[in-house]
Amino acid sequence: MKPLILIVAYFAAVTLPLLLSAWLGGPPRQFHQELASGLGILAFSMILVEFILSGRFKAISNDVGMDVTMRFHQIMARTALAFALLHPFLYHGTPSGGERPWDPTRQLTLTTDFSDLATGIVAWLLLAGLVVMAIGRTQLGYRYEIWRLLHGLGALLIAVLLLHHTVSAGRYGSQPVMTWVWLAMTGVAVGSLLMVYLVVPWMQKARPWRVTSVVRLTPKQWEVTVTPDGHRGLDYRAGQFAWLNVGHSTFSMKENPFSISSAPAAGPDISFMIKELGDFTRTIGEIEPETVAYVDGPYGNLTVDGRDGPGVALIAGGVGLAPLLGILRQMRRTGDSRKVKLIYGNRIAEQIAYHEELGDEGVVYVLSEPPEDWPGETGFIDGPLMDRVFSEQEFRDWVFVMCGPAVMMDVVEDHLIQRGTPAHRILSERFSYD
Ligand SMILES: Cc1cc2nc3c(=O)[nH]c(=O)nc-3n(C[C@H](O)[C@H](O)[C@H](O)COP(=O)(O)OP(=O)(O)OC[C@H]3O[C@@H](n4cnc5c(N)ncnc54)[C@H](O)[C@@H]3O)c2cc1C
Repeated sequence: MKPLILIVAYFAAVTLPLLLSAWLGGPPRQFHQELASGLGILAFSMILVEFILSGRFKAISNDVGMDVTMRFHQIMARTALAFALLHPFLYHGTPSGGERPWDPTRQLTLTTDFSDLATGIVAWLLLAGLVVMAIGRTQLGYRYEIWRLLHGLGALLIAVLLLHHTVSAGRYGSQPVMTWVWLAMTGVAVGSLLMVYLVVPWMQKARPWRVTSVVRLTPKQWEVTVTPDGHRGLDYRAGQFAWLNVGHSTFSMKENPFSISSAPAAGPDISFMIKELGDFTRTIGEIEPETVAYVDGPYGNLTVDGRDGPGVALIAGGVGLAPLLGILRQMRRTGDSRKVKLIYGNRIAEQIAYHEELGDEGVVYVLSEPPEDWPGETGFIDGPLMDRVFSEQEFRDWVFVMCGPAVMMDVVEDHLIQRGTPAHRILSERFSYD
């Protein structure tokens, strides 16, 4: 699916309940009351679609990229929160009371039935908490797995509470057609969560992998290779990534996303280049060969397959080399006729991985803290460095693929745009969604 279709599908899904409610209508109310209901309806449908945007659906993230999908998820969650926060206050001045036989369409009054309102209030508070917890995740110091579990359970609870509030307190939601629409949409949202956390893990049990080697590449970077155990492996494109679970049940939250650094043309074994960072990655060295692993993937759209252009520019910072190495290896193995240049930046010389394999032809090594006798480039990967490496024509015609620290990617992307590289020829993968 192309990004445009996805955007249209998103807006169609989010506005469907609003349009249907407007179409079903009722006797007119004041504008601020309709606005209050409209924002509440939009907030709920946006929250339900957030479940689908949470990352694991290849039809979405493999077209626009996982980082773009997650950014959209975050922005839409904040927008939904803003709508939800306004929703109760806009009813200000509307008389409330119990059921009034003379006002069956709730034109003049709001409900004050405790349970109908309570579910809305609890969901309102929980939603604010969930968004704040997500924004401040790193500052709050939660372990990632705990945060992910709480985020999923919190979202599930909010969806169920909002369903009750909308179909019982809502002027529109309580109409039978809308009750069915909300039930169906909530069903799809909750179903998607069950799919990610129960169905996919259940299916993964039949597709185990085994660790074949764990190699220290540099003082803090490792290469882990796994082989399919009794199945054909992964059908992936160079540059994509997968969630890797080593030594845990398929239902465990202990799985992490890593780019695949091997080439599909090399066979069914897949390798990951992993940098030590937190609780899992710091224990990579302890993984025993033959340990059972599970791989959920492939995900992402960082691939040069099918992209036109006479050359491919790979720009890597640190462990950002991982997906680009997969691309480079695939190009070398398949005798890809496109020219290729790699810029590979690190802080110190000891951090350079795969030096021998990469070689020196077409590879520009950059160190920000070089030793005295360093013959290569120094400093950070920035505009002037890129101007030394690429010609004007290459900026215009080549495909640029980058992966590394956020600052590096921002600098490189801005420079490419300045130099006239069309946006569709700039590909990137971010390792962090914060
Ligand atoms: C698309 C993508 C590709 C990546 N490819 C590589 C790679 O090739 N090599 C590499 O070294 N690192 C890669 N990373 C980063 C890697 O996932 C984290 O460094 C790793 O998960 C940290 O796990 P930890 O348990 O050691 O640390 P933790 O302390 O648990 O996590 C540190 C940070 O890593 C991120 N993270 C942890 N678990 C997850 C998860 N399940 N899903 C999403 N983010 C998570 C979070 O931002 C978290 O704050 C990639 C990340 C993404 C999103």
